[in-house]
Amino acid sequence: MNKRVLKVNCPNCNEIVIWSEDSPYRPFCSQRCKTIDFGDWASERHVIAGEPVAPQDDEGQDDFF
Ligand SMILES: [Zn+2]
Repeated sequence: MNKRVLKVNCPNCNEIVIWSEDSPYRPFCSQRCKTIDFGDWASERHVIAGEPVAPQDDEGQDDFF
């Protein structure tokens, strides 16, 4: 029998987290990361979890202006 193990990355520190009952803080790796992320949300820095961060490629575009 194959047990399918779903792994996710902790949104805070990118640590691999096993998605199971053993990880009560999933998708975070620990309560600490969960708290830190929540603190981030409480502040003005809203980052959508799971959304890839666009690389800063605005270099060179300034030439148009
Ligand atoms: Zn973490």
